[in-house]
Amino acid sequence: MMITKKSPSLSLYSKTKVDSYWEVRSSGQMESPWFDNLRHPLRFNSLDQNISVDVAIIGGGIAGITTAYLLSRSGKSVAILEDGYIGSGETGRTTAHITHALDDRYYNIEKKKGPTNARLAAESHTAAIDFIDDAIREERIDCEFERLNGFLFLDKSDKESSLERELKALRNAGISKATMINDSPLESADISPCICFPDQAQFQPMRYLTGIAHSMNTDKEVQIFTETHAQDIKRAETDSIIKTDKGHTVTAQSIVLATNAPIVDKVSKIYDKQLAYRTYAIAARIRKNSIPLALYWDTGNQKLKDHVKAYHYARIQKTEDKNFDLLIVGGEDHKTGISINKNDFEARFKRLELWMRKIFSLKGPVVYAWSGQVMEPLDSLAFIGPNPGKDKNIYIATGDSGNGMTHGTIAGIILCDLIQGKDNPWANLYRPDRKIK
Ligand SMILES: Cc1cc2nc3c(=O)[nH]c(=O)nc-3n(C[C@H](O)[C@H](O)[C@H](O)COP(=O)(O)OP(=O)(O)OC[C@H]3O[C@@H](n4cnc5c(N)ncnc54)[C@H](O)[C@@H]3O)c2cc1C
Repeated sequence: MMITKKSPSLSLYSKTKVDSYWEVRSSGQMESPWFDNLRHPLRFNSLDQNISVDVAIIGGGIAGITTAYLLSRSGKSVAILEDGYIGSGETGRTTAHITHALDDRYYNIEKKKGPTNARLAAESHTAAIDFIDDAIREERIDCEFERLNGFLFLDKSDKESSLERELKALRNAGISKATMINDSPLESADISPCICFPDQAQFQPMRYLTGIAHSMNTDKEVQIFTETHAQDIKRAETDSIIKTDKGHTVTAQSIVLATNAPIVDKVSKIYDKQLAYRTYAIAARIRKNSIPLALYWDTGNQKLKDHVKAYHYARIQKTEDKNFDLLIVGGEDHKTGISINKNDFEARFKRLELWMRKIFSLKGPVVYAWSGQVMEPLDSLAFIGPNPGKDKNIYIATGDSGNGMTHGTIAGIILCDLIQGKDNPWANLYRPDRKIK
């Protein structure tokens, strides 16, 4: 990855004009670093005729692409319809921590869903990390995938007892390798005590999507269409029909809505069960090897009444520059629609920068700033499976919280099984028609 030279000034945080076609198609106006070394967006032909397939997938982010990848291996014919380019939604905006350390905490999941379900959740996220690792090896994808430790440490508003509670819940859930450590993994700030999660991962998400998409595109069973907006779905008992904005149709036995936020919501009422949050991210130049390579998360601001206690997350991205890497930090989340004032928007970026400079003793310039949206389910687990209501052959994947890399992968695994009529051990846990008390 090359580092683009941008001004480190506050103006980086106050962009008001949309510059590129890419940004128009995405959920925010500023770009993440992931597109820098991808000279061309992941663009395929747009749909220009009527077609018929076994499965039509709307959305070309990690959930849609993983589902298509697995279905193609099972012999199903698949069409992906993507409004923008592959990855131009939230997957191109992620910070790509790949982890089973769920940001809603296992003690909450255990309390809300019971110990068996907390264990299933842990098992599914661990399996998703392994799935990504295996797919990268099998398809020989060069996407800077690394296994590394993750460290969960206390926000200043939080107490040590919350880490102890989480460690206990982790053990109950079968994450037995997580340990409490009393020596700070950082020299720049004492973040001890913290929970260390071994064997987590990170990658360059756009390179991963590119690799998976290209591995499928050689396969005649998968057709990928970009700049193709799914406008309408006409449901039927056997074959449903998607109509695109250009008037073409895709007839399919099954349809997967991998659109991050559901686009067919009247019946499913998923919006009653999850909340949309905006999250912010910045990246700064750091001297190579100046910060230990790991994932870092704080436990979030406990004083907030919000469903999600806004927390900070950080990782390092190696670059081709011989002197510098990038430190990527995110957080300062808020419910969408409540913070649309431009000053508040800038203030959130500025607070993120202050946190970054404090925890990592950062001196270098901030060179990227962007934001995106995450869907936060009220019971902390994604909604993956048949769309609630009468739709028999329409499936959804949403509510992936700050764990969309693993939730998107879990969606691919579950939906591939369900579409083939197979049982899946996690399907019940994530079923979209579950009641939330
Ligand atoms: C700043 C930020 C940091 C994050 N950090 C992390 C992290 O560190 N780890 C982690 O696990 N998760 C993280 N997440 C969450 C994660 O990025 C997302 O949950 C995940 O990328 C969602 O993937 P997806 O495939 O469901 O959706 P998307 O990637 O958004 O894909 C959905 C696609 O559907 C397309 N679409 C929508 N409607 C239509 C239509 N009608 N017709 C055709 N196409 C349509 C969109 O164009 C889009 O490309 C982060 C998110 C943000 C914003």
